[in-house]
Amino acid sequence: MQTQTLIIGAGLSGLCLARQLQAQNHDYMLVEARSRPGGRILTERLEGGYFDMGPAWFWPGQPRIAALIKRLGLEWFEQYSTGALSFEDEAGRVERGRGFASMQGSYRLKGGLGALIDALAAEIPQKRLMLSTPVVGLAKSASGITVTTQSGQAIPAQEVALALPPRVASQLTFSPALPKETHAAMTGIATWMAGQAKAIAVYDTPFWRTAGLSGDVMSRRGPMVEIHDASPAEGGPYALFGFIGLPPRARSNEERLRQELKEQLSRLFGAEAAEPKTLFVKDWAFDPFTSIEADQQPLYAHPQYGLPHAMTRLWDGRLIFGGTEVAPQFGGYIEGALEAADNVLALIMTEKV
Ligand SMILES: Cc1cc2nc3c(=O)[nH]c(=O)nc-3n(C[C@H](O)[C@H](O)[C@H](O)COP(=O)(O)OP(=O)(O)OC[C@H]3O[C@@H](n4cnc5c(N)ncnc54)[C@H](O)[C@@H]3O)c2cc1C
Repeated sequence: MQTQTLIIGAGLSGLCLARQLQAQNHDYMLVEARSRPGGRILTERLEGGYFDMGPAWFWPGQPRIAALIKRLGLEWFEQYSTGALSFEDEAGRVERGRGFASMQGSYRLKGGLGALIDALAAEIPQKRLMLSTPVVGLAKSASGITVTTQSGQAIPAQEVALALPPRVASQLTFSPALPKETHAAMTGIATWMAGQAKAIAVYDTPFWRTAGLSGDVMSRRGPMVEIHDASPAEGGPYALFGFIGLPPRARSNEERLRQELKEQLSRLFGAEAAEPKTLFVKDWAFDPFTSIEADQQPLYAHPQYGLPHAMTRLWDGRLIFGGTEVAPQFGGYIEGALEAADNVLALIMTEKV
């Protein structure tokens, strides 16, 4: 097997690039480590409900995601934020009406963002998408780049698009080794939200709504520091989700964490909240296809993303970085994943080798 453009990573960025190459009848292969496409986009489904364990929101002023949703015939809705806010102090005392609805005006997708991934993946012929195929190494050759997979398969390509977080890409073997400043630039780019963990508690009824609460909580006690309503657009099952504020090492005992999550939900929303029908927990910090050890350090602000000079024009321009972390305008966000795909496409189309 050989191909012109080999894309590593079938997250939103890689999928979008593949779809655009497909539309241009360009020869490509899309290789994905996990058994599913989507990367950080992961939607759990339960009884008709959809629950985003990675990203859930997009915002006004993000043109690519809006256009993509429209093109795919999908629908969005506004984050639920009707009702009183709650605040929990260090001692677990709960006050109503304090804080602010930080995500009011954010948009969510009907079917979850997984619906977007399903629709995009359906546009890519099966023979071009290789799932469960982790790439382990890249070697420069006279005519291009040979990519080696974990199972030992070698795929020659004329160019490679790395549609994965630069830190994750830094774990691959490059032959010859990339320049020191390139490696340093790659490891220096923190992967957005990689150190995060999310919990979603699913219920048959939205009892917090009927009690006049929006589901929005700011907590100084934790484990969840920020909670929001995560119910589907219409009907149930209903849900609350929270970002877990404990550092990665402190949340490695999942059984204890689950118990603490239920106790917190009960403090905040009453006894009914203590027994969700399902409690989904996804810890991205321990997922090797999203995070490396450095991502266990908390990020206190949104980094300034973009493509550092040291990560350009590599291997005669045949090794190209994609993925949201190298998007200059919307880096980190799902909009940035699409922006990065557009930038890689422009390079492939103009800098033909
Ligand atoms: C908890 C959480 C909440 C978030 N919330 C939001 C939000 O509300 N709004 C928003 O805009 N953004 C949010 N984000 C960020 C958003 O998820 C990303 O911007 C976006 O999904 C990045 O897409 P990507 O394709 O660039 O990267 P990824 O989704 O990381 O895709 C990279 C792909 O490469 C694959 N891969 C890795 N290593 C290899 C290998 N060796 N071989 C082959 N394949 C490999 C991975 O499996 C993955 O599929 C959130 C992220 C998280 C984790």
